[in-house]
Amino acid sequence: MAKKRKLKLRIDRLIIVLIVIGVVGFGLYRGASWVVGTISSYFQKEEEQTQTNEEETVTEKEYIATIVIDPGHGDWDPGANVGDVLEKNITLTTAKAIGDTLEEANIKAVFTRESDISLSNNKIEDLKKRAAMSAENNADYFVSIHVNSFEESDDVSGFEIYTKNDESQSLAQNIGSSIETFNYSKNRGIIDGERSLQVLRDNTVPSVLLELGYINNANDYAYLSDDQKLQKLGEAIAQGIINEVSAHNSETITQNNTNE
Ligand SMILES: [Zn+2]
Repeated sequence: MAKKRKLKLRIDRLIIVLIVIGVVGFGLYRGASWVVGTISSYFQKEEEQTQTNEEETVTEKEYIATIVIDPGHGDWDPGANVGDVLEKNITLTTAKAIGDTLEEANIKAVFTRESDISLSNNKIEDLKKRAAMSAENNADYFVSIHVNSFEESDDVSGFEIYTKNDESQSLAQNIGSSIETFNYSKNRGIIDGERSLQVLRDNTVPSVLLELGYINNANDYAYLSDDQKLQKLGEAIAQGIINEVSAHNSETITQNNTNE
């Protein structure tokens, strides 16, 4: 009997010891995985933080102004043309040159189109959508690019700048003077386009529509059909916009200083 009892006692002890080992072991395991988990999530968070900081640095570019650039026509609507030299391509090439130059000067360029597309199959809808982009992008100015043609005579040449209202005048003057220094074609002046041009009428910010020149005139055609010359023309237009933005910015600074 006594022997059996001893044996039973030992078995009981063994069971208790095993349970204790089990409990302590499980506890250690949970504790260890908690520690590992906490450490690794800490490092993960730090990694995420670094990534977010990097992303912020990329998008943090501070623009001094936003301009909507509208390359006229597109897709089914080629605009004016001589042979396969089409207004829709001339306006897009020029617009891209303008945008590149503006970005270099910390001015944000938003395009109404960046490829050979239209914004609608309906002309009026297409123009409405282009004009609406000023408000959608909280733009400071809207600049539309077009090319003229005059069927009756190929003697007519030069660029014209149509304006929306009085607030658009200095932008038009700055662009006009800048193109003049480029010595491209004659400046035919600033014309009120509020009533006749929908993209100006429907706009909500100071807006101009630039007719680059007459495609059926030999002098203008030599520029309009040459992508390298369009690049220079675009840079000159952008310089006019930069001059306008700078003048406006320094005016704002002076006004703020006077108020103080
Ligand atoms: Zn046009």
